[in-house]
Amino acid sequence: MRLLWRGRSANEPDHELIWLAVSASSIAGGAVWLAFALPWPRCAFLAVTGLPCVTCGATRCTIAFLRGDFLSALSWNPLAFVAFCALIAFDLYAAIVVVGRTPRLRIVDWTIAQKNAGRIVVISLLALNWIYLLTHHDRF
Ligand SMILES: [Zn+2]
Repeated sequence: MRLLWRGRSANEPDHELIWLAVSASSIAGGAVWLAFALPWPRCAFLAVTGLPCVTCGATRCTIAFLRGDFLSALSWNPLAFVAFCALIAFDLYAAIVVVGRTPRLRIVDWTIAQKNAGRIVVISLLALNWIYLLTHHDRF
């Protein structure tokens, strides 16, 4: 696995622009949703089992995060909190490279073992987050 900075070729999709647009429009959509006080999404897993799913608390995490109450956001769903921090970092990076027309960061030459290690890390983080939510399920 290697990290490299390279220019975007003419026929390559502008991933940074696409995902920055998706992120910005999602945040705007969420702000409109909250502004109109539309009903919050209900978790079908929680309704059926009485236990939180791995994403339960993400909405409350988002609201607390956007209000700057980071400790509360972290407590609602730690993995969602980390994802929001990563999203902000990506959005800043994407805005800089899109506006500045600068080289893009790419991760290349992944081996099978590295891909599998990445999968194990992601699954482990999801499992740890779910264990946390299950041990705090009285909040939901
Ligand atoms: Zn849920």
